[in-house]
This record gives sequence, structure tokens and C-alpha cells, in this order.
Amino acid sequence: MRVDLHIHTTASDGRWTPQEVVERVQAAGIGLFAVADHDAVDNLRPTAEEARRAGLAFLPAVEISARLNGMEVHILAYGIDPDHPDLKWLVESNRALLEWANEETLRRLAKAGYPIDLKAYEDYQYDPSRGGWKALNYLIDLGICRDVRDFFDRLYVEPYRPPDPEFPHPGEVAAVVQDAGGVPVLAHPGMSLRGQGITPESLAPFLESGIAGLECYSFYHDPQTTQACLSFCARYDLLITGGSDCHGGFANRQLGVPPVYLGDLRLGPLVERVLW
Ligand SMILES: [Zn+2]
Ligand SMILES: [Zn+2]
Repeated sequence: MRVDLHIHTTASDGRWTPQEVVERVQAAGIGLFAVADHDAVDNLRPTAEEARRAGLAFLPAVEISARLNGMEVHILAYGIDPDHPDLKWLVESNRALLEWANEETLRRLAKAGYPIDLKAYEDYQYDPSRGGWKALNYLIDLGICRDVRDFFDRLYVEPYRPPDPEFPHPGEVAAVVQDAGGVPVLAHPGMSLRGQGITPESLAPFLESGIAGLECYSFYHDPQTTQACLSFCARYDLLITGGSDCHGGFANRQLGVPPVYLGDLRLGPLVERVLW
């Protein structure tokens, strides 16, 4: 069975609604999938409903922002109860941090003379099927920025880029995820730990934090990185997951790439959390 356990929707910065995700997953011949939006659980129940109707297996998830020694990392929380109060509080608090960083960027751009009206920004709304987030779409509509690449290359840099948000420590995230009935997995370790590599030293703080698995199969990994992650999982008895990080055409990742099969993975207790 083909699997993709890392897909974004309109609940964060992806372009697809739950219905579109299910249609695409089905068309791609994927039998088990997970929606894992950035710090958002809003689309999990509607996606579960669509998946059930389509006869697809679904694993609810969320990709939670965390911070370790000044480095932003993403933790995939699989099999969570989307209504768990502590989990909802955590993702809402992370979204508030993200929005603060965006507004602070706009304030700094305005101060530097860019024609930005923060009052208009408050009331600004955009069509979520465009992908991205509010501040990005606002800047695109004003003609200040071309696209997401341009935003990160030219605007989200010194002197406009604010201090990085103080996301919670992975240990705090892992504890909440476990309380919410889920399993915390380190997303795309090869990307998060770029510069350090996949080593016992670079991964030790995550194991100490209660991270129970690695996203070994990822768009960001070359074969050596995947192999290093798999070896580490075998050695430390960790779960093995994989997914595309597809945003439905926003950012250049494609559904089901890299190809992952259920037999490649080690889902452990998550098997019982899958809505078959
Ligand atoms: Zn990520
Ligand atoms: Zn992602």
C-alpha cells in the first residue's frame, strides 16, 4: 500500500481543502495518508470524514513548531485527539507567535518606507486556496513581493526579520502530544539538522525529549540521509515514518514523492490510531 504521512491543507499554508486532498490522494493511488498542518488541527475532522467516505485510511496529525538551542524544528504529532485542550492551547499559542513575527516584519517594512497599512492588514482576508499565509498574501497583493521565495530571499531578512519566535522546547511538545494520545516524531531530520548531520550527538536531545520516531522518508533526504535515519531508528528502537510535505502546489513538493510503502514504515502503536 502506498502511503503519504505528511500533507498540508488550507488549515495552514497548503492549497487543498480536505475534499481536494482526499481526491488527490485517491487519484495518486495512496491508501493511507496523514494531514499534518503547521500548528493547526482545524481540518482533521473534515478530512477524516472525507477519507471514510472515500474508503481511505487516515491518520490525524499536526506539525508542531519547536525550538531547540536556537534552532527551529518541526515535530509531527501522529494519532492525536484534535480536541485535546492542552494540544489546542499549544497550537494556538504557536500560531500567535507566528502571527506576531509576521506583523513585526510588516511593522519593520512599513518603518523602512514600504507602503504597508497595518490597519488594512488587520481586516485583510485572502483566498486560502492560494496557499501561504496572511502576511505573505498581503505583501503579494500589494506588489511588494512576488512569491514565497522572494519573501524569504528579500524581505524576511535583516533588518526586517524579527527575532525568531520562542517556540516551546521539543520536550514540552512531546509531553503534550503524548497527553493528547499521540506519538511525537521528528519531521525531516535531514533538513532540520542540516549542518550537523544525522548523528547520535545531534539526535540525543530529541530522544531525551521523548521523540519516539523519525520521518526517515522525506522529500528533503538524499539516499544516504534516509539510510542514516533508518539505521538510527533500528539502533534506538524508534518508529519510522515518511511523507512528501506536499502543500498542494504551494512550494515545489509533490504528493507521494518520495514513494513510500506501508512495508517501509514502522508505525508501532500508531497502527491502532489509524482510521481504517
Ligand atoms: Zn516541516
Ligand atoms: Zn510540513
